[in-house]
Amino acid sequence: MKARQATKIIKEIKVDINKCTGCRACEMACSAFHSKPKYSSINPARSRIRVVVDELNDEYVPIRAGDYTVAECTGRHTYAIDGKDYSECSFCGAVCPSRDFFFEPDSGLPLKCDMCETVPALDQPWCVKVCTADSLTYVEREVPRDEKPQPTRDQLEIGLEFLINEYGMEAILENLNRKSKR
Ligand code: SF4
Ligand code: SF4
Repeated sequence: MKARQATKIIKEIKVDINKCTGCRACEMACSAFHSKPKYSSINPARSRIRVVVDELNDEYVPIRAGDYTVAECTGRHTYAIDGKDYSECSFCGAVCPSRDFFFEPDSGLPLKCDMCETVPALDQPWCVKVCTADSLTYVEREVPRDEKPQPTRDQLEIGLEFLINEYGMEAILENLNRKSKR
């Protein structure tokens, strides 16, 4: 019988920009969930989701905080979608120096969306729960897990032999002994 391949769950939030009304309930819910103690305050400046609003362009784009980057990118493209022009920044979740989104107001530290990880787990992230316009949809996908190949016994023996030749048996045993006591 063929062994079942190991899988992992990828959690995503899909965004339909045509449905977003710019109500910013998602920002409030996210900041409440991440306040300390939980739900003790609301401050969109602490939210890990922000809505890019350009009323003249009728543009409302919710973006979630991704990875921190020290430098601005050079991307200055404009995207035309359904007759509206969107700047590249409108879709970018990078926490970068060119805008003041996603920096914790007191400490200045970058924020990042953690999908509302908590124990016990929520049925849906808070921003999705409160989005009554259905602009945000929570999706879980099962994908194959990339497992690192485990070293074979031969490979382990070759590695051990190399270490013994390089550092001597005594030093290796001393090191192993130290590690086993941690
Ligand atoms: S709660 Fe939904 S509709 Fe309101 S701003 Fe956020 S994404 Fe847009
Ligand atoms: S998933 Fe949770 S942490 Fe991420 S933006 Fe939504 S409410 Fe904030």
